[in-house]
Amino acid sequence: MKSIILIAPPSAGKGTISNILSEEYSIPHISTSALLVSAIEAGDEQGNYIKKQMNLGNLVSDDIIISLVENRIMQDDCSNGYILDGFPRNLKQAKSYDDFIIKNNRNLGIVVLLDIDREQAKKRILGRVSCSNCGAVYNIYSKDTRPRIVGICDKCGSTLSRREDDKEDIFDNRFDTYLKDTKPVLEHYEKKGILYKIDSSQELSKVIEQVERIIKEKND
Ligand SMILES: [Zn+2]
Repeated sequence: MKSIILIAPPSAGKGTISNILSEEYSIPHISTSALLVSAIEAGDEQGNYIKKQMNLGNLVSDDIIISLVENRIMQDDCSNGYILDGFPRNLKQAKSYDDFIIKNNRNLGIVVLLDIDREQAKKRILGRVSCSNCGAVYNIYSKDTRPRIVGICDKCGSTLSRREDDKEDIFDNRFDTYLKDTKPVLEHYEKKGILYKIDSSQELSKVIEQVERIIKEKND
């Protein structure tokens, strides 16, 4: 099994797809946000530093992210491959990662881009409403998951609301940052011939099927 780097804009379903693949192939799902959470929980010097930076609203530095990922992928459960979610986020991280992999005589594996265009991604995020009473989640733009009555939970009748960070300007900002940082990473892996693109605006089952096909073909 080769490792898989999943790259995707906000709302492409990266976390969900990572979890499904992780179970199917019995390889760990390594998300940088989860690594940061466990680093903070460890409560050591590095953890406290990360916590402080995040509380100040700062991005955690590339060097810290890189070292967390490197330590994680050297653990035994990663010897058969793993899924990277949220890493490498920019070209600096990608190059450090490649160097580390080569130095340790490992295989770079495959890089899968779960592609979705801005308008579709926006609808997925801005259309999302949830029920604070029972936790049900809906999307007002989706014919399958929109509530029967606007603004009211189908299951319990409570009022639906949008998440505070699901605002249009915050979305646009996140999407712009993603495009700017990710473009060089994609070009980098395209040149190496290990980048595969999948249209992530399709149904989840179709997306999964295509990822599986790529893994099957490239898993030599
Ligand atoms: Zn409800």
